[in-house]
Amino acid sequence: MPKFDQIYNLACPASPVHYQYDRVKTALTCSHGTLNLLQKAAADRARFFQASTSEIYGDPEVHPQTENYRGNVNTVGPRSCYDEGKRFAETLVTDFGAQHGLTTRIVRIFNTYGPRMHPDDGRVVSNFIVQALLGEDITIYGSGEQTRSFCFVDDLVEGFVRLMNADSGIDGPVNIGNPNETTVNQLAEQILEMVGSKSKIVHHPLPVDDPRRRKPDISNALARLNWSPQVSLHDGLAETIAYFIEEMSTSGRRSSALAS
Ligand code: UDP
Repeated sequence: MPKFDQIYNLACPASPVHYQYDRVKTALTCSHGTLNLLQKAAADRARFFQASTSEIYGDPEVHPQTENYRGNVNTVGPRSCYDEGKRFAETLVTDFGAQHGLTTRIVRIFNTYGPRMHPDDGRVVSNFIVQALLGEDITIYGSGEQTRSFCFVDDLVEGFVRLMNADSGIDGPVNIGNPNETTVNQLAEQILEMVGSKSKIVHHPLPVDDPRRRKPDISNALARLNWSPQVSLHDGLAETIAYFIEEMSTSGRRSSALAS
């Protein structure tokens, strides 16, 4: 087994559809899986990086969410395997690091999108782009007035690397996300316009415990890592749409945009 200097634990499905497919497995990935990697980090004396999530804030009562907000999470709902799994992982990483003298980092990732997402990922950005390209109905869950703040993947990765390699001044979890808050309705309209799609909007029921608002407070990342997102939603969506056009033409899922 090779010896590592740094270990990034990014292992867990993050799309609600996928993490709810086998909820026990998701909870165990966050607990046993994280312990397995922590033990490897202890053996190698490696620095350990844990991917946590804005979901640990649940359906937040504080807006925007700062790192010291403790969250509003249902322990027994359909999202709990992920939310509570990731909360437990933060505790385990912190305590294990302290007991074994390891340097640990915890990032709280807010909604992220970009090229290389799977067409069946199930999250909102990829769903809307694929639906718009195929001319299928755009599925808005609930009223569409719930908000999210979408971060382009390159910005997120830059934040990861800065956090992992920062030498000092990191105390506890750090939010990484784009504070530009948008409603799901606005996202649908923007994607329809950018794709030039004639897809209709249809409404489906809002999933249980779907958070109503989400927006990171990134003052900590700015102060400690000199990090802030550089890619606008428009530019990030343009790259993501171009990726899906290419991906769907090579995988045989022809889009009406390509056909015309
Ligand atoms: N959503 C939607 N239509 C979809 C997929 C998601 O309206 O086809 C909504 C979902 O209910 C939530 C938001 O978009 O309010 C973000 O959902 P996603 O699954 O991308 O991530 P979440 O932030 O819920 O983990």
